[in-house]
Amino acid sequence: MSTKKTDYRPASTCERCGKYLHPGGLKYRVDITITSAFNGVIDEHYEEGEMEKLAEEIKRMDPEELEKEVYQELTITLCNHCRKKLINYLSEGEEIH
Ligand SMILES: [Zn+2]
Repeated sequence: MSTKKTDYRPASTCERCGKYLHPGGLKYRVDITITSAFNGVIDEHYEEGEMEKLAEEIKRMDPEELEKEVYQELTITLCNHCRKKLINYLSEGEEIH
């Protein structure tokens, strides 16, 4: 799975089911960008010391991991079948099998 849009090349197999994708055949590029939807509100219901604990946890986290919590970009190649499954999953909450 490549993580940057710029170095995307269609995979030769579906990245979900592993099906071989013919060079001239149907394949789909899926770009996913997930960003933290922080609304500027900090929960005021933190118990005393909890904010400090949270700050400590953040300090201990891997910067790369931390970045993923806020912003994540994925590009994957899917076959037609998996594309349909993904759409159903996203729009109807259907289980992915
Ligand atoms: Zn597939």
